[in-house]
Amino acid sequence: MIYKQKIEKMISRLRQMGITDERVLKAMRAAPRHRFVPAGLEFQSYDEKALPIGFGQTISHPYTVAVMTQALNIKNGDRILEIGTGSGYQTAVLCELGAQVFTIEKIRAIGQSADKILRELEYQFVSRIGDGTLGWQNYAPYDSIIVTAGAPVIPKNLLQQLKQSGKLLIPLGDADEQILTILIKDNKSYNIIEIEELKFVPLIGKNGW
Ligand code: SAH
Repeated sequence: MIYKQKIEKMISRLRQMGITDERVLKAMRAAPRHRFVPAGLEFQSYDEKALPIGFGQTISHPYTVAVMTQALNIKNGDRILEIGTGSGYQTAVLCELGAQVFTIEKIRAIGQSADKILRELEYQFVSRIGDGTLGWQNYAPYDSIIVTAGAPVIPKNLLQQLKQSGKLLIPLGDADEQILTILIKDNKSYNIIEIEELKFVPLIGKNGW
C-alpha cells in the first residue's frame, strides 16, 4: 500500500504528541484517511494538518481526531452521536473502535459525500442531514456525544440525550479560540474537564453560532 509509510509516520508522530491509547492508534492505522480528502490532496492526508473539504469546511488534524477519540474512551458497542460528520473520517475511526455511530451533518453535499465514502468502505453507521445542535432524540440516550465544531455555549439538548455518566465532548469558546471540554453527566448536573485548546470550524445552528 503506497500510504503505509505515511501512516506509520503519522502514528509515531501522534505518540510523540502524547497519544497513548493503543486502541485509538490502531483505529487510526486502519481507517484510510486518504479516502476522506478531495482528489489531489491524498498525499498530504497523513500530514499534521487540516485540509479543505469544500464549503469552507475541513477534515480535522490527525492529532485533533486522536485526542478527541482518546478522550471518549470508547468501549465496543457504545452508542455515539457525532455532530458534524464532515469528511466522515472521525466517523470511520469511531466505527473502527466498535462504536455504534449516529452522525449528523448540516451541509447536505458534505454529508452525502461522507456517506458515499463510508459505505464504499463498508462501515456501518446511521446518518442524517440536519442541525446537530438539537441532537437526535430517536436514538437517545447515548454513551457519548462528540461535537466536531466549535460552540459558543453548551447545547442543552445534547446533555439531555446522554446516559447517566455519559460524556459530551465539545470545543467551547469564541470564534478564535476553543477549549476542548468534556462534560460528564451526573444526574441533572455535570462535571467539567478541560482538555486543551484547539482550533475548530464554527458550529452553526440553533444552539450554535
Ligand atoms: N471530524 C470531521 C470534522 C469536520 S468539520 C472531519 O474530520 O472531517 C465540522 C463539520 O461540522 C463541518 O462539516 C460542518 O458543516 C459541520 N457542522 C457545523 N455545524 C453543524 C450543526 N449544527 N449540525 C451538524 N453539522 C454541523
